[in-house]
Amino acid sequence: MIEKATATFEIQAINDLFILLIDQDQGKSVTNAAHRVIDVLEKLVPEGIGHRKVYYKDTMGRIDQLKVKNRRFDGFAPCSESQQRTIIEMKGGDCLVCGEYEKDLINGFCQECQKEHGTLIL
Ligand SMILES: [Zn+2]
Repeated sequence: MIEKATATFEIQAINDLFILLIDQDQGKSVTNAAHRVIDVLEKLVPEGIGHRKVYYKDTMGRIDQLKVKNRRFDGFAPCSESQQRTIIEMKGGDCLVCGEYEKDLINGFCQECQKEHGTLIL
């Protein structure tokens, strides 16, 4: 059973380099949500976040980095315009459950795992 939390972010992309989250604008404080999301990601991602960078796209379409230190949220950092352009295009990654590559991740899950486990809410 996968732990569920208040809907705040969705996972759009995950790869060896970074994780891209989309802010769902549920009216929660972004800072509090960020702490929570990093905690959940640490448990959810096989082997943890590790050295991956974590980015989130806000409702205005702007991307910032969620810094992680000692497996905890450690503040926000802005991304350059060129980083934003690169990251914003990224989609897909390895399913968090089965590890198979999926180009249209459903919040971190492939189609099959989404059917089986439902939709993950961070
Ligand atoms: Zn899967």
